Amino acid sequence: MHPEPINLLGLDAPALTQLVGQWGGKPFRARQLQKWVHQRGTSQFDDMTDLARDFRAQLEQSCVVQAPKVLTQHRSTDGTRKWLFDVGQGNAIESVFIPEDDRGTLCISSQAGCNVACRFCSTGHQGFNRNLTAAEIIGQLWWARHELMQDLASARIPSPMQSSSPKAGSVLSSNAMAVTSDTRLISNVVMMGMGEPLLNYEPVLAALRMMLDDNAYGLSRRRVTVSTSGVVPMMDRLSQDCPVALAVSLHAPNDALRDELVPLNKKYPLNELLAACERYLEFAPRDFITFEYVMLDGVNDSDQHAKQLIDLARRIHCKLNLIPFNPFPGSGLKRSLASRIRIFAQHLMDAGIVTTVRKTRGDDIDAACGQLAGEVKDRTNLSEKMATRKMIPIKETHV
Ligand code: SAH
Ligand code: SF4
Repeated sequence: MHPEPINLLGLDAPALTQLVGQWGGKPFRARQLQKWVHQRGTSQFDDMTDLARDFRAQLEQSCVVQAPKVLTQHRSTDGTRKWLFDVGQGNAIESVFIPEDDRGTLCISSQAGCNVACRFCSTGHQGFNRNLTAAEIIGQLWWARHELMQDLASARIPSPMQSSSPKAGSVLSSNAMAVTSDTRLISNVVMMGMGEPLLNYEPVLAALRMMLDDNAYGLSRRRVTVSTSGVVPMMDRLSQDCPVALAVSLHAPNDALRDELVPLNKKYPLNELLAACERYLEFAPRDFITFEYVMLDGVNDSDQHAKQLIDLARRIHCKLNLIPFNPFPGSGLKRSLASRIRIFAQHLMDAGIVTTVRKTRGDDIDAACGQLAGEVKDRTNLSEKMATRKMIPIKETHV
């Protein structure tokens, strides 16, 4: 029986060097291969013309370059793009690209489903199926990057050859390579899609290393963000293994309410979480933590909550990102009114806390972060358990 082919998308530099070394190849061969795979988006070993013929034959025999299969893709009128990927056994994950004036951000997923079960999250409502592999995580970036480059190349160079968009996996033209600094391409990656990245640590770490690697995607540490619901021990590990920008999903300014909204809080309550943020900042590429705070009508958006949040935020160098809740069927929750969000934000800013309100993008294609529903087979029956969980009273009492 043939062993499963090795998917090169899942191998970071040390793993690729080791593989090539097993065949008697020098480390620079691994670097060449990395550039072909990640920078030029090549999946055909025959196209890797500066690799020795016998090396290519060896690759052909035992390896593949394979991103998850795209099920559907959407373009929003505001330029946002969304891909739905098949990750097997009836599960799908999503990635979203958001172009802005000064950057292009790709939001990617780390798990099919999630078992943290946050009250306001549609992924959390779907339960957990499985961790994504490093190849599936980096495959989202590989695919999106080359789709966007092909788009741009065909828009800029209207030749008959390029007017029909070449399929990903073909060699990118040198013209396409020349436009990497364009903000319509990916300058930032945020792990804010489906899943809790720090509960799928090793594959996420390998993917992060590839994102930063100059022979692969060469992204700045400051422009790669891991978002976590607060897995304290893994925040410490990340600070040592690969410190990138960190966003922490806070969502409540006191333990009683956070226990209900983000159940992981029962394990790692706010004091421990803040202490972990403090430790992370010693190694972080930015000198602040981003706190995400979803705005839920009548649940966490009162003046009293703002006051508690100010006290909490003053304990640590942070920025606040208020996220208008994206409703989904069966959540039983509502988005705070725009006027309430404005007042809440003003309280924070008056207290000297840098605060932004997340713009909703790609509304016409359901592409907001935290709205990436995909389709996950719930093998944990979590959705049933959540349906029977006590609803949060609309006028919350834990202050
Ligand atoms: N598991 C990680 C990363 C994925 S969720 C985390 O929780 O941080 C990415 C962000 O989207 C988190 O801040 C999450 O709280 C937020 N989010 C989830 N569901 C949402 C919803 N329905 N509306 C708005 N934001 C949501
Ligand atoms: Fe999981 Fe993040 Fe959703 Fe919470 S918000 S259920 S941690 S994906």
